[in-house]
Amino acid sequence: MINKKERVILKLSGEALTNSSENIYSIDILKNITEQISYLIKNYQLKIGIVIGGGNIFRGSLAKSLGMIKNEESADHMGMLATTINAIALNIYLKNAKIKSIVLNAREIKGLLNQPSEEKISEEFIKNDVIIFGGGTGKPYVSTDTAAALRAIESKSSYILMAKNNIDGIYDKDPNHFTNAKFFKKLTFKEFIDLKLQAIDHQALQKLEGTDIKIIVFNMNGKNNIIKLYENKLKAKTILTK
Ligand code: UDP
Repeated sequence: MINKKERVILKLSGEALTNSSENIYSIDILKNITEQISYLIKNYQLKIGIVIGGGNIFRGSLAKSLGMIKNEESADHMGMLATTINAIALNIYLKNAKIKSIVLNAREIKGLLNQPSEEKISEEFIKNDVIIFGGGTGKPYVSTDTAAALRAIESKSSYILMAKNNIDGIYDKDPNHFTNAKFFKKLTFKEFIDLKLQAIDHQALQKLEGTDIKIIVFNMNGKNNIIKLYENKLKAKTILTK
């Protein structure tokens, strides 16, 4: 059960912002996410952090196939910049819907974006209802899942709502390919790592080991699923705890 008094981080992958491989964004999806966030702010006075991925634009893992051999770090920086582009894009939609929102970026962009810190986050949550976190952790070799863990800790959030596309939680194998795939309603971070499941970056889970933060993995493709999850009306989901 999500306690409405507690702060949440929504982790959106870059691919959650589009429904085609040709366009980096879908206007309808961006509008829909904005409407759901707006509803939650109006109805629950929600303060929410959104950690956004970059996979709709660039991922470090593309480096090799593009001939960028031995350039993994640079490729990861490209990926982090992609998340910044997404953060700014989502912020434009939220602002156009009159939502008080700001982007904090793992690396400062002088004159454009400030860096997050515990103090900066609490300060910005007084003025804003949404903080969009761009730029991942600012460090290579991890994904924005780890950024979600880091920002959840810094913002003293209790939950990370981890949105997935067209899959309603964690399975032991891909349910689209294996009819006998087993669904997990609950898992500990350790169980997830020991089972070598891949849907979440293991470094993110290791970061959360010493905290009470829970991860709830859900499918964001159903109608109003972010709202339904927050209102504890979404049955299919996986809850991960320490
Ligand atoms: N990335 C990184 N460090 C971070 C976060 C992201 O190096 O802390 C890079 C990495 O190359 C990753 C890319 O940014 O592939 C995009 O992030 P991610 O894959 O998490 O995006 P998503 O799959 O959620 O869209």
